[in-house]
Amino acid sequence: MNITPVKAQGSYLWDSIGKKYLDLYGGHAVISIGHSHPTYVKKLTEQLNQIAFYSNSVINPLQEELAIKLGELSGYSDYKLFLCNSGAEANENALKLASFHNGRKKVIAFHNSFHGRTSLAVASTDDQKINANINKTHEVIFLPLNDHDAFLKEISNEICAVIIEGIQGVGGIKEPTTEFLQLLSSETKKHDALLILDEVQSGYGRSGKFFAHQFAEISPDIITIAKGMGNGFPVAGVLIHPKIQSKYGLLGTTFGGNYLACAASLAVLEVIKKENLIQNACEIGENWIKELKQIEGVQEVRGRGLMIGLQFDFPIATIKKQLLEEFGILVGTASDPNVLRLLPALNITEKEIESFNQALNHVLTNQLASIK
Ligand code: PLP
Repeated sequence: MNITPVKAQGSYLWDSIGKKYLDLYGGHAVISIGHSHPTYVKKLTEQLNQIAFYSNSVINPLQEELAIKLGELSGYSDYKLFLCNSGAEANENALKLASFHNGRKKVIAFHNSFHGRTSLAVASTDDQKINANINKTHEVIFLPLNDHDAFLKEISNEICAVIIEGIQGVGGIKEPTTEFLQLLSSETKKHDALLILDEVQSGYGRSGKFFAHQFAEISPDIITIAKGMGNGFPVAGVLIHPKIQSKYGLLGTTFGGNYLACAASLAVLEVIKKENLIQNACEIGENWIKELKQIEGVQEVRGRGLMIGLQFDFPIATIKKQLLEEFGILVGTASDPNVLRLLPALNITEKEIESFNQALNHVLTNQLASIK
């Protein structure tokens, strides 16, 4: 998009010529508590004035505080936390842990998935490459999402791990069904394979629960997190089931879990809790999805909470451009050019949503009239 943001507050951005924009995308679901939230700015500033960085060769007490608070809010208090810097790094470490755990290297992933620029990267760009050998460390088998038979045919004692997004983001807001997630959970247990839930985009309250997979009431072996975790500060993590043993030197990173990253993450958790943002995402998202379903021209509305995909039967590039230029509204796309992605801050208001609905209605009415 041809804009240069220079200032941001809440759900709004301002560009270099002073134009104001409503941000319904948050840089791919990164802005969880809104831009420049006062608690966040204060915590980061205070930390910067104390100590900004030292590597993991010393004890950083903020890491422990973060692990405890994240455990409490997410419901995974007994899981260990490894901190790193990006979603891709979290997923690579998850795969590495799985291989260390069971000594295997075959991984099952799903069509249209996106797990970052990792050994699994091909999935987002070309889901035809089923059974592709990506590199020497992991052999990846791509299967159709929610296809029980295809999965049951492939799962065996040779499989190292199954990796799946809580809700597919880049792939166009597509959800694994509850039954499918439960099948993955029971079958991986049966075969001593590990279930890795990539909650990089769908986590941190976005779906209306802390993690999207919690709707299916399963407990994965490994959960990866990033994006909304730092509200813009680069930070990511791997939550690890206690059955997976940690050994000295197993995982490592220079910058992961540095003081500023922890301060940013702690501020995010504090605001999510204090302002009931998971509840807000759930309630406001549910209403919004209902409203979006009424808009003429929208073929299908998918998603949960504030992770929403609108499916059209034509490419959305012109709609996106018009929303930006005429109404000052930023939205996202997906790997399917006919999908519009909405990933606003979790404290978005009804009023902001209403202004988007009106703008979309207007743009679509014109679009439909021009087609007729
Ligand atoms: N996993 C998912 C589900 C993602 O959506 C992304 C990024 O879009 C990643 C992993 C990769 O994260 P990062 O860009 O921080 O490496």
